[in-house]
Amino acid sequence: MNTPLLSLGLEGLMSWVEARNWPRFHARQVWRWVFVRRCRDFSQMTDVPKRLREELADHLDFFSTRVVREQRAKDGTCKLLLELRDKETIECVLIPEQERRTACISTQVGCGMGCVFCASGLNGLARNLDWWEILEQLLHLSERLAPAERLTHLVVMGMGEPLANLDNLLLALRWATDQQGLGLSQRHVTISTVGLPAKIRQLADLQLSYHLAVSLHAPNDELRNRIVPINARIGIAAILEAADYFFQKTGRQVTYEYVLLRGINDGAEQARQLGQLLRGRRAHVNLIPFNDVPGLPYRRPSDAALAEFMTILRHHGVSVTVRKRKGSEIEAACGQLRRQMRNQAKEFSVATEPIVVPASMV
Ligand code: SAH
Repeated sequence: MNTPLLSLGLEGLMSWVEARNWPRFHARQVWRWVFVRRCRDFSQMTDVPKRLREELADHLDFFSTRVVREQRAKDGTCKLLLELRDKETIECVLIPEQERRTACISTQVGCGMGCVFCASGLNGLARNLDWWEILEQLLHLSERLAPAERLTHLVVMGMGEPLANLDNLLLALRWATDQQGLGLSQRHVTISTVGLPAKIRQLADLQLSYHLAVSLHAPNDELRNRIVPINARIGIAAILEAADYFFQKTGRQVTYEYVLLRGINDGAEQARQLGQLLRGRRAHVNLIPFNDVPGLPYRRPSDAALAEFMTILRHHGVSVTVRKRKGSEIEAACGQLRRQMRNQAKEFSVATEPIVVPASMV
């Protein structure tokens, strides 16, 4: 197995090329072929000397990940299952909507946060992704676009907790947003976090223009501890303080995500508490009706409960939207395809892992 091309970075590739007695600018050509021209084969990089192309192909692997499954929904949503070198799998999704082409990417194999309703964390965390494994997802997804199209938006809402792998995420985002990379606007990149205050502050101090979304899911610690177990070690107050700091440092309004689980956190009382918590803050709430996960006991809220929840928040002066459902028939909610594949594989394996299904919350 060779070094993956992207893992060198442009600077590293320049040194690599130079060490082989070629002018450094050839590295820029290669980078351009990869990011701008979506070329996936060294031999097709026609303005690079043929002998250098051969050397590149001999010593570097174009990708460290490969697409092992691809699903397309009627609404155009396209979901890829990627296999990593250690045979682990991750998911990423392309969501076309009007003029937008949004990529949703993963940052970890599995997740260690343990949110009870989420498919990604049910088997815990396997490992962090390396930064080029994060970036390769974007390149695989951009290949699914029409030639004249470009990725316009990026949401880090796939598997894993992005802020628990911040260093790798930042390196990947550098190339996602660099003019010599994919050239996305920083403002069109959303990082969704369970809410790790120290990491939110670290990100804020970098004064980048990424958009932060905090997965709150409950208006009080007692309830949040049950839905988002990591909260017992953090607490909502510390998260809100860190999010306020983020706003202060970056000028970017924070979004609070709130997955609505029927009969658990979707009542009028919770809406009132959430309204009080966020009233007066420059914040936006994105309500996400629960996406079914096979084996989990949770359900989506009724339409009436959803409408009432929104109305109450608006009465508190909080801006609120409901996340549209995309790609539901291809199980586009994070972690579901990987889980489905793993469970299929289990039918043939002898040593089966236990599937952790949290006890019903009600
Ligand atoms: N670890 C990050 C990214 C998770 S995925 C975070 O916690 O924000 C992005 C969002 O989808 C999170 O708000 C997550 O809680 C939510 N989510 C996970 N599983 C879901 C499901 N089955 N239905 C609806 N939303 C879900």
